[in-house]
Amino acid sequence: MPTEPFWKTKTLDEMNRSEWESLCDGCGRCCLHKLEDEDTEEIYFTTVACTLLDAGTCQCSDYVNRKKKVPDCVFLTPEIVRSVDWLPETCGYRLIDEGKDLYWWHPLVSGSAETVHEAGISVRGKVTAYDHDLSSDEDYFEHMMQAELPSRA
Ligand code: SF4
Ligand code: SF4
Repeated sequence: MPTEPFWKTKTLDEMNRSEWESLCDGCGRCCLHKLEDEDTEEIYFTTVACTLLDAGTCQCSDYVNRKKKVPDCVFLTPEIVRSVDWLPETCGYRLIDEGKDLYWWHPLVSGSAETVHEAGISVRGKVTAYDHDLSSDEDYFEHMMQAELPSRA
Protein backbone atom coordinates (compact mmCIF):
# COMPACT_ATOMS: atom_id res chain seq x y z
CA MET A 1 0.00 0.00 0.00
CA PRO A 2 1.43 3.42 -0.91
CA THR A 3 2.28 5.54 2.11
CA GLU A 4 0.80 9.00 2.48
CA PRO A 5 3.23 11.91 2.07
CA PHE A 6 4.41 13.54 5.28
CA TRP A 7 2.35 16.73 4.90
CA LYS A 8 -0.84 14.66 4.99
CA THR A 9 0.08 12.73 8.09
CA LYS A 10 2.16 15.09 10.25
CA THR A 11 1.32 18.29 12.02
CA LEU A 12 3.67 21.24 11.68
CA ASP A 13 5.10 20.42 15.09
CA GLU A 14 5.90 16.84 14.05
CA MET A 15 7.89 17.71 10.93
CA ASN A 16 11.65 17.38 10.84
CA ARG A 17 13.87 20.15 9.56
CA SER A 18 13.98 19.10 5.91
CA GLU A 19 10.23 18.41 5.79
CA TRP A 20 9.63 21.82 7.33
CA GLU A 21 11.84 23.60 4.82
CA SER A 22 10.28 21.76 1.88
CA LEU A 23 6.82 22.96 2.90
CA CYS A 24 7.70 26.42 1.64
CA ASP A 25 6.43 26.66 -1.95
CA GLY A 26 8.92 29.40 -2.89
CA CYS A 27 6.24 31.95 -3.72
CA GLY A 28 8.08 34.86 -2.10
CA ARG A 29 4.84 36.46 -0.96
CA CYS A 30 5.94 36.72 2.64
CA CYS A 31 8.98 38.71 1.49
CA LEU A 32 6.83 41.56 0.20
CA HIS A 33 6.14 44.45 2.54
CA LYS A 34 2.67 44.70 3.94
CA LEU A 35 0.73 47.68 5.27
CA GLU A 36 -1.81 47.42 8.03
CA ASP A 37 -4.89 49.63 8.29
CA GLU A 38 -4.72 50.85 11.88
CA ASP A 39 -8.51 51.09 12.17
CA THR A 40 -9.54 47.76 10.67
CA GLU A 41 -6.26 45.86 11.20
CA GLU A 42 -6.62 44.67 7.62
CA ILE A 43 -3.37 43.71 5.88
CA TYR A 44 -2.60 45.01 2.40
CA PHE A 45 0.21 43.62 0.30
CA THR A 46 2.50 46.00 -1.51
CA THR A 47 4.74 45.13 -4.44
CA VAL A 48 7.81 46.34 -2.54
CA ALA A 49 10.25 43.51 -1.91
CA CYS A 50 12.62 42.94 0.94
CA THR A 51 16.11 43.95 -0.03
CA LEU A 52 17.29 40.31 -0.12
CA LEU A 53 14.52 38.90 -2.29
CA ASP A 54 15.58 37.76 -5.73
CA ALA A 55 12.59 38.93 -7.75
CA GLY A 56 13.31 36.41 -10.49
CA THR A 57 13.64 33.22 -8.49
CA CYS A 58 11.49 34.53 -5.59
CA GLN A 59 14.09 33.10 -3.21
CA CYS A 60 15.99 34.84 -0.46
CA SER A 61 19.40 35.69 -1.87
CA ASP A 62 21.12 35.08 1.49
CA TYR A 63 18.89 32.66 3.35
CA VAL A 64 21.56 31.58 5.83
CA ASN A 65 22.44 35.10 6.93
CA ARG A 66 18.99 36.62 6.49
CA LYS A 67 18.41 37.51 10.12
CA LYS A 68 21.78 39.21 10.36
CA LYS A 69 21.14 41.28 7.27
CA VAL A 70 17.41 41.86 7.74
CA PRO A 71 16.68 41.88 11.49
CA ASP A 72 12.92 42.16 10.78
CA CYS A 73 12.89 38.88 8.87
CA VAL A 74 10.60 36.45 10.64
CA PHE A 75 11.79 32.87 11.08
CA LEU A 76 8.64 30.81 10.79
CA THR A 77 7.85 28.29 13.50
CA PRO A 78 4.58 26.44 14.08
CA GLU A 79 3.70 28.97 16.79
CA ILE A 80 4.37 31.91 14.51
CA VAL A 81 2.39 30.37 11.66
CA ARG A 82 -0.59 30.16 14.03
CA SER A 83 -0.22 33.64 15.43
CA VAL A 84 0.49 35.94 12.48
CA ASP A 85 -2.19 37.28 10.18
CA TRP A 86 -0.03 38.12 7.17
CA LEU A 87 0.78 34.72 5.72
CA PRO A 88 -1.07 34.40 2.41
CA GLU A 89 -3.82 31.80 2.25
CA THR A 90 -1.77 29.89 -0.33
CA CYS A 91 1.20 29.49 2.04
CA GLY A 92 2.11 25.84 2.51
CA TYR A 93 2.53 26.27 6.27
CA ARG A 94 -0.84 27.93 6.64
CA LEU A 95 -2.62 25.35 4.48
CA ILE A 96 -1.31 22.43 6.51
CA ASP A 97 -1.96 24.17 9.81
CA GLU A 98 -5.56 24.75 8.70
CA GLY A 99 -5.96 21.06 7.87
CA LYS A 100 -5.99 21.65 4.11
CA ASP A 101 -4.00 19.96 1.36
CA LEU A 102 -1.29 21.48 -0.80
CA TYR A 103 -2.29 22.64 -4.26
CA TRP A 104 -1.15 21.05 -7.48
CA TRP A 105 1.46 23.73 -8.08
CA HIS A 106 3.29 23.16 -4.80
CA PRO A 107 6.75 21.72 -5.62
CA LEU A 108 6.13 18.80 -3.28
CA VAL A 109 3.08 17.84 -5.32
CA SER A 110 4.22 18.76 -8.83
CA GLY A 111 7.85 17.74 -8.40
CA SER A 112 8.94 21.02 -9.98
CA ALA A 113 10.03 24.33 -8.47
CA GLU A 114 8.65 26.09 -11.56
CA THR A 115 4.95 25.34 -11.13
CA VAL A 116 4.47 27.94 -8.40
CA HIS A 117 5.56 30.52 -10.97
CA GLU A 118 3.66 29.00 -13.89
CA ALA A 119 0.47 29.05 -11.85
CA GLY A 120 0.88 32.77 -11.12
CA ILE A 121 1.08 32.20 -7.38
CA SER A 122 4.60 33.50 -6.88
CA VAL A 123 5.63 37.15 -6.91
CA ARG A 124 7.68 36.72 -10.08
CA GLY A 125 6.92 39.71 -12.32
CA LYS A 126 5.03 41.51 -9.54
CA VAL A 127 7.83 43.33 -7.71
CA THR A 128 7.89 47.04 -8.56
CA ALA A 129 10.48 48.27 -6.04
CA TYR A 130 12.87 47.23 -3.31
CA ASP A 131 12.67 48.68 0.17
CA HIS A 132 16.18 50.11 -0.13
CA ASP A 133 14.95 52.21 -3.10
CA LEU A 134 12.26 53.97 -1.09
CA SER A 135 13.07 57.00 1.01
CA SER A 136 9.95 57.30 3.18
CA ASP A 137 7.04 55.25 4.48
CA GLU A 138 4.67 57.23 2.25
CA ASP A 139 6.44 55.88 -0.82
CA TYR A 140 4.96 52.44 -0.09
CA PHE A 141 1.49 53.73 -0.96
CA GLU A 142 2.57 54.10 -4.58
CA HIS A 143 3.28 50.37 -4.68
CA MET A 144 0.08 48.84 -3.41
CA MET A 145 -0.73 45.44 -4.94
CA GLN A 146 -3.33 46.40 -7.53
CA ALA A 147 -5.10 43.09 -7.86
CA GLU A 148 -5.63 40.67 -5.02
CA LEU A 149 -3.02 37.93 -4.99
CA PRO A 150 -4.67 34.82 -6.41
CA SER A 151 -5.66 32.30 -3.77
CA ARG A 152 -5.72 29.41 -6.23
CA ALA A 153 -4.78 28.67 -9.80
S1 SF4 B 1 4.34 32.65 1.87
FE1 SF4 B 1 4.74 30.65 2.81
S2 SF4 B 1 5.08 29.30 1.07
FE2 SF4 B 1 5.31 31.39 0.28
S3 SF4 B 1 7.52 31.85 0.46
FE3 SF4 B 1 6.53 32.55 2.35
S4 SF4 B 1 6.74 30.84 3.78
FE4 SF4 B 1 7.10 30.04 1.73
S1 SF4 C 1 15.54 38.34 4.50
FE1 SF4 C 1 15.11 36.82 2.93
S2 SF4 C 1 13.57 35.46 3.80
FE2 SF4 C 1 13.64 37.32 5.06
S3 SF4 C 1 12.02 38.65 4.19
FE3 SF4 C 1 13.95 39.18 3.19
S4 SF4 C 1 14.03 37.95 1.31
FE4 SF4 C 1 12.46 37.06 2.65
